[in-house]
Amino acid sequence: MPEPCPFCAGTRVEVVEVDVGAWMVECLECHATGPVGKSTAGAEERWNNRQLFPSTGREVERYG
Ligand SMILES: [Zn+2]
Repeated sequence: MPEPCPFCAGTRVEVVEVDVGAWMVECLECHATGPVGKSTAGAEERWNNRQLFPSTGREVERYG
């Protein structure tokens, strides 16, 4: 299971498929999203590990 959101501490987080074979964890409360993984387990692992985005250095990206 994904850990609570690092921004709002919300526990309503969900793994969503963003593309074919591409998954990421999204917080349903503040809509923060985690890194994309190649599987649900991969996306959860990256969310839980708070892996940084190489391009931005930010922990997670938000929708506009
Ligand atoms: Zn959140």
